[in-house]
Amino acid sequence: MEKFLLRNIENPNSADINEYVKAGGYKNLSKALALSPQDIMDEIKKSGLRGRGGAGFPTGMKWSFAKADPKFPKYLLCNADEGEPGTFKDRPILEKNPHLLIEGMTISGYVLGSEYGYIYLRGEYPAAADILNAAIKQAYEANYLGDNINGKGIKFHLAVHQGAGAYICGEETALIESIEGKKGQPRNKPPFPVNVGAWSMPTIVNNVETLSNLPLLIEIGGEAYSHIGSKECPGPKLFSVSGHVNKPGVYELPMGTSLKDIIYKHAGGIRNGGKLKAVIPGGISTPVLPADGIDCAMDFVAMPKAGSMLGSGAVIVMDESVCMVKVAYRALKFFEHESCGKCVPCREGTDWLRKVLGRIENGNGKEGDIELLTDITGIMLGKTFCPLGDGAAGVVNGMIKHFRNEFEEHIKNAGCVLSR
Ligand code: SF4
Repeated sequence: MEKFLLRNIENPNSADINEYVKAGGYKNLSKALALSPQDIMDEIKKSGLRGRGGAGFPTGMKWSFAKADPKFPKYLLCNADEGEPGTFKDRPILEKNPHLLIEGMTISGYVLGSEYGYIYLRGEYPAAADILNAAIKQAYEANYLGDNINGKGIKFHLAVHQGAGAYICGEETALIESIEGKKGQPRNKPPFPVNVGAWSMPTIVNNVETLSNLPLLIEIGGEAYSHIGSKECPGPKLFSVSGHVNKPGVYELPMGTSLKDIIYKHAGGIRNGGKLKAVIPGGISTPVLPADGIDCAMDFVAMPKAGSMLGSGAVIVMDESVCMVKVAYRALKFFEHESCGKCVPCREGTDWLRKVLGRIENGNGKEGDIELLTDITGIMLGKTFCPLGDGAAGVVNGMIKHFRNEFEEHIKNAGCVLSR
């Protein structure tokens, strides 16, 4: 497939506006401004574009709620807080193709009737902050941002807001709290941000990759876009592949590419001729799949049927040297640390899961600990305030479902045989 999101990134100066324009950049903004916002909205709905942040909600539907709300101003927030372990798919756009995102956000602002946008950037991406700020300055100078975009009297202003390193700020309402200068904790929903978001105004929060799809959608139209990739989840998709593969990296492929092809055809197979043991297909909060479970299409509809989720499209590949109890323990250390503490099932549940997994991993596991783990996940699932708690519980359940024997052996042998 021809690259679009990662087009031209091999060019060492790809983040410079002149190089971007030379490669055809910003022509889709001009094309979009010649159409009415409603015409573009119809194309978005026709395209079938779904949000790329993990939930996969249809973009056209989400936008129509905010657009229909008469309150003003409306805000457009770009979620660039990719803090999920294994996820680095947005980074090439932010660092190598920032004008694609700016072009996508300016088009989106025009469609939504929003004059103010923010890129909420994870604190651990300082290089991306400098690159984005330089690109935004160039876009203002070239009239692609500001009060009179392309001389058409259209207004859209954009700024970068850096987070402070909290994973939970990737959740849209916690992101909004943070951008308002408050502690980053999720809000109750409803009301949803599309109606009551930043500063209580209608707010659209979309992922970097979602917004970066807008120029392509304008370029080829909704109908042609809907024919890329899988029928129910069309378009190009970025997959960040890490772990025990020969060629880790970010791959732009049609949505619905099989997990097996991503690992063996694109990422070069298992390193050192090793054997695949397990894959976490969509970032650490998505349930693990065993080696024989990877013949599945990577999209929002097929992955739940295969027993996991597409999530952010962050594929973590593990060969047979990996101890799955250790993976579960490390994952729960992360979730316990990142739990914002607002609700009891997550705050206490992640702590208990980490403790029990830690003692199993360290050789002090007790008979009944596996049942204790599933009891705790049962108390958490569906009962937490935001998806972090569900994600943490789902990780443990997935590990026990597919690798129960390893948990039993750890308890029986007082530790891990792989590390002896
Ligand atoms: Fe905070 Fe966890 Fe509750 Fe989410 S589930 S609100 S992260 S305590």
